[in-house]
Amino acid sequence: MFHILAADRVFILTGAGISAESGIPTFRGAGGLWRNYRSEEVASPHAWRRDPHLVWEFYSMRRRAAAEAKPNPGHLALAALEHTLHDRLFLCTQNVDNLHENAGSRRVVHMHGELFKSRCEDCDRPPFDDPNTYDPPAALPKCDCGGQIRPHVCWFGEVPYHVDEIFRALNECTIYIAIGTSGVVEPAASFVAHAHGPDRPGQGRAQTFYIGPEEPANSAAFTKCLLGKAGQLLPNLFLCD
Ligand SMILES: [Zn+2]
Repeated sequence: MFHILAADRVFILTGAGISAESGIPTFRGAGGLWRNYRSEEVASPHAWRRDPHLVWEFYSMRRRAAAEAKPNPGHLALAALEHTLHDRLFLCTQNVDNLHENAGSRRVVHMHGELFKSRCEDCDRPPFDDPNTYDPPAALPKCDCGGQIRPHVCWFGEVPYHVDEIFRALNECTIYIAIGTSGVVEPAASFVAHAHGPDRPGQGRAQTFYIGPEEPANSAAFTKCLLGKAGQLLPNLFLCD
């Protein structure tokens, strides 16, 4: 059990593992192909320039899959933790689905964007809610300005979102917990080293924990790794002052 004291600030990073427990495919690693495409081939600026119809077909399929998924007890436990800790919890996710929100989390920082949002490539219109699907032969969605509408998702080779806000929270946290993330995708794989590292301004090192079914690639960077499903470990894990 994690004892969270009144002075603690908790940073939580969630990855594909917690969504996979709700049945959302990860499209990474062995068996992660979609119609014989690797995810890099349908989730990159290059793929978008070459074949935007194919990219929208991929994201339309992912929107349908995510719309059917339900949050699991791991998501619900994190929503309950936010209810207790309020702004002493910073929840950052690499996942683009909305399962944290569906579980009741109010403040979720989506560093890789959001599956159910789109944005215009050309104008300053902010990203907007978009649950629609655009399977061929449907026309590609266009903005009022004439620009192409693309998924609001961080593709391979693009810069993740909210990085400044994330590193501010990493500087302030006293407890860092990574859940269901492989420890290979940067910059998230380096968060633990930052939280545990000696170079945080005016802070000691955070305690760092990993929760997931398999040991992550960066396991040596953690104070402790708890191996198991998030949906089984997270409920009843936190004791808050
Ligand atoms: Zn526009």
